[in-house]
Amino acid sequence: MKILSVNAGSSSLKFTAYEMPEESVLMSGVFERIGIGESFYTIKFNGEKTKVEVELTNHKQAFEILIKELLSHKVVNSLDEIKGIGHRVVQGGTYFDKTVVVNDDVIAKIDELCSLAPLHNPAAITGIKAAQEVVPGAVQTVVFDTAFHQTMPKENYLYALPYDWCDKYKIRRYGAHGTSHKYVSMRMNELLGRTDTKLITCHIGNGASISAVKDGICLNTSMGLTPNAGLIMGTRCGDIDATILTYLMDKENMSPKELDTILNKQSGLLGISGVSSDSRDIEESIAAGNERSSLAQTMYVKRIVDYIAKYYVELGGCDAIVFTAGVGENSKMTRLEVMERLAVLGVKADKEANDCRGVEKVITTSDSAIPCYIIPTDEEVMIARDTYELAK
Ligand code: ADP
Repeated sequence: MKILSVNAGSSSLKFTAYEMPEESVLMSGVFERIGIGESFYTIKFNGEKTKVEVELTNHKQAFEILIKELLSHKVVNSLDEIKGIGHRVVQGGTYFDKTVVVNDDVIAKIDELCSLAPLHNPAAITGIKAAQEVVPGAVQTVVFDTAFHQTMPKENYLYALPYDWCDKYKIRRYGAHGTSHKYVSMRMNELLGRTDTKLITCHIGNGASISAVKDGICLNTSMGLTPNAGLIMGTRCGDIDATILTYLMDKENMSPKELDTILNKQSGLLGISGVSSDSRDIEESIAAGNERSSLAQTMYVKRIVDYIAKYYVELGGCDAIVFTAGVGENSKMTRLEVMERLAVLGVKADKEANDCRGVEKVITTSDSAIPCYIIPTDEEVMIARDTYELAK
């Protein structure tokens, strides 16, 4: 069965076409700069990558081209071979704890949650509507980044604010990257050969979050009401003293929106280093002797370790720590610094094994009290799996 996994951004559309249940990737690609000029798309097929420059004014056009490409490369012979299209949605609130089939009520709920994910949820709706118009015969599903975290106990998801407000404004920890945390924890359990496990999963990309996963179920996660909680990220500050916000607004005479932009786009690694949000640039500038980049990296690693320590206690131990996403999969420096700071828990890094990028492997010595693994994440295949189950 042919299934499409789709991730729509405000000006982009990523897709992967699968043969399910084999999970073989038939074609993948990304449409960029939709509606903002100089648009183009890239397609990966049979190991070859092609780039095409084309005017794309909306997501529907992107979908139409995507279908044409699938047909012309004979990935499908007709539209009705595409049985399911799964859409990634960032915020599902308390409404969704699993993947569901799209209907009007589901779209209305995703729309209602736009204020919690103002950049992402509207884009997802645009993507769903475009797919419905272009491939009306396919089952459309929505896969939520927040769904995996819905199992957190109340003491972990509630903030210590006046209780009525939490209720009235639905203020709570929702978390994000749930599909990735779920994928790597499932894979880790496969590697350990059991499911009664205590795992700490570190999704460290440009956006970053850590989860405590017990017996395959999420117990806690570092992102909060929005993604700007927990870890220090590329451009996000993560956890800070909440009163800094009112203090800054007062001192700088800033609007909430202006402050939000600074906290989400100009803070984190970029804010402290003044160099870049990208770990590769930070590592390069540290090598060149930049002290603020060194400080940023130290703070970044320390915060990761703080959360691992916190979740180690919360889980009552840990069977494995998993690194995934852009930095987690690729930065040997960040992984090594984290593991070295965890020596007190008996973690023993294997420097040679850690000297790699993007491969699934154990990176601690055999006598390490907690094994650490790299597991490349695969959110797309999770979307395809759920969609296949609902479409079949
Ligand atoms: P996003 O949150 O946008 O999905 P990704 O998971 O794709 O982010 O991670 C992107 C980040 O991964 C980059 O900003 C960069 O910091 C980091 N990264 C990618 N490759 C490397 C590398 N070889 N060394 C260090 N960091 C890397």
